[in-house]
Amino acid sequence: MMLSDSMNKALNGQIANELFASMTYRQMAFEFDVMGLKVFAAKFQSQADEEHDHAMRIAKYILDSGGNVELSALDKPQSGYKSAQAMVEAALASEIKVSKQIYGLMDQAESEKDHSTRSFLKWFIDEQVEEVSTMSDLLQLVKMAGESNLVLVEQRLHELMKTETPAE
Ligand code: MG
Repeated sequence: MMLSDSMNKALNGQIANELFASMTYRQMAFEFDVMGLKVFAAKFQSQADEEHDHAMRIAKYILDSGGNVELSALDKPQSGYKSAQAMVEAALASEIKVSKQIYGLMDQAESEKDHSTRSFLKWFIDEQVEEVSTMSDLLQLVKMAGESNLVLVEQRLHELMKTETPAE
């Protein structure tokens, strides 16, 4: 079944949103690296890769559905964060924002009775629950430890990353 032009356009918009989320994580990863927090840096590089994969997943769906992929210019990601906590807070805010974007796409797919896109988006809705939860947990750890004890959080994060299942 063909995508409607407006659904195609909205999905192209989400490719840009996911790529922007990827760049946002990438910038944060570099800033963690400068702070000497190498495990945080690795975790955020891996988040950036995941967001890039999300963009590619949407592009593949558009192509499989007979649509056209069109990339667009991205805003400059925020930089110069004041602390590790500020970055994790911004990361959580970004995940919440992406969840809302996905809900908007789902609303559109429902109103168009576009069952294929609804089914496709279900994976993203579930994924966002995970992403928001992971970032909330990390924020809680960072707040508990305080900026001077973040090296301890790194040990915990390192253990969590080892047990993480690879992204689908
Ligand atoms: Mg994403």
